[in-house]
Amino acid sequence: MADKTFVDWPFFEDRHRELRHGLVAWCERHTFRHDDDVDEICREVVADLGKAGWLQYCVPAQWGGASDKLDVRSLALCRETLAYYSGLADFSFAMQGLGSGAISLFGSSSQCAQYLPKVAAGDAIAAFALSEAEAGSDVAAMQTSAKRTGDAYILNGEKTWISNGGIADFYCVFARTGEQPGSRGLSAFIVDGSNPGIVITERIETIAPHPLARISFNDCRVTAAARLGEPGDGFKIAMATLDVFRTTVGAAALGFARRALDEAVRHTSTRQLFGAPLSALQMTEESIADMATEIDASALLVYRSAWAKDSYQERVTREAAMAKLYATEAAQKIIDRAVQLFGGRGVTKGNIAESLYREIRALRIYEGASEVQKVIIARQTYRGENA
Ligand SMILES: Cc1cc2nc3c(=O)[nH]c(=O)nc-3n(C[C@H](O)[C@H](O)[C@H](O)COP(=O)(O)OP(=O)(O)OC[C@H]3O[C@@H](n4cnc5c(N)ncnc54)[C@H](O)[C@@H]3O)c2cc1C
Repeated sequence: MADKTFVDWPFFEDRHRELRHGLVAWCERHTFRHDDDVDEICREVVADLGKAGWLQYCVPAQWGGASDKLDVRSLALCRETLAYYSGLADFSFAMQGLGSGAISLFGSSSQCAQYLPKVAAGDAIAAFALSEAEAGSDVAAMQTSAKRTGDAYILNGEKTWISNGGIADFYCVFARTGEQPGSRGLSAFIVDGSNPGIVITERIETIAPHPLARISFNDCRVTAAARLGEPGDGFKIAMATLDVFRTTVGAAALGFARRALDEAVRHTSTRQLFGAPLSALQMTEESIADMATEIDASALLVYRSAWAKDSYQERVTREAAMAKLYATEAAQKIIDRAVQLFGGRGVTKGNIAESLYREIRALRIYEGASEVQKVIIARQTYRGENA
């Protein structure tokens, strides 16, 4: 079975061990829905996670959170644990953090007071709206504009692949304000989901369904008080937010991978082949050994990055890139091996290996595709940063 002693590693404190044990116990008791109504499932799971206190890890203590600043080890442990039990529970938790992260990191007191306590209680659903059809990996190509008129900004443009699009109570939206060319001319805004200038133009269906949409901003008016940070800070705000949450994508991948290993061990121990359990074949042992080793390597990279961010390093761009890159790529291979060990059952709709196979795929693309992480790691290595 996947290693359960990793919380004893020196990256963690007793409060993390208590969190992990408490959340595992909660997940074991909780019934996670797996039907097609993803909007309703996500609304329910956000409310449940909020009521049980788990969303406190998504905001700082001053605004109803669990610790003074966002604690990446706690966020990562929550994502890993929730992903093990339910992809949608992990998704809902992650989006409460990512969608409100720019407010936690850069919001004024009044912005924090208005949004963050509701995020922590599960009373408001958050979203992060950065990507556009022509600006995914290349954020600086962003076209959505925000024009200042008196004490307001008018937003026009279209965002796509926006998680929680259609069910979010508010969106952290990035738009071009034009102070300078490229990435230095972007700003960030909080836009309420009820704003009449927001239109959900398309609901997007993916291989692992969750609320996802294309969103238009049509003369969408927000007051200047809805801007996060200073004009032109948008790119810095987006990257600083991803610097916290990228590590947690690796953690979610780790949760999916641990589940795949546990299921593979269970299945191969009981499945009889050629008069003995499948686990007795040496090639099965090879698969299980590779899976277990890659899981530990992923965990070391994920929790090294989280610990560095929490303990002593303002930015962990390189460590977070390594954690996300390695853990998501490894999880894909680990889950693929699990599918293989399940044989025909592994590709049968409803089988756990089949659902993990669909869940893992997008993690190698969103919050920076694997190739983008490699570019980051290589550039930092040439520059000698964090070396
Ligand atoms: C399920 C899901 C949820 C998402 N949720 C959100 C969300 O909530 N908010 C949000 O703003 N966005 C979200 N996204 C968008 C996501 O961040 C983008 O899809 C991602 O940044 C990649 O952009 P793209 O799809 O335009 O691909 P492109 O930028 O067109 O890239 C295509 C491929 O090119 C390759 N590539 C990219 N850069 C390089 C490079 N430098 N060198 C070599 N190869 C390269 C990679 O293989 C990449 O996958 C989500 C996406 C998915 C799939």
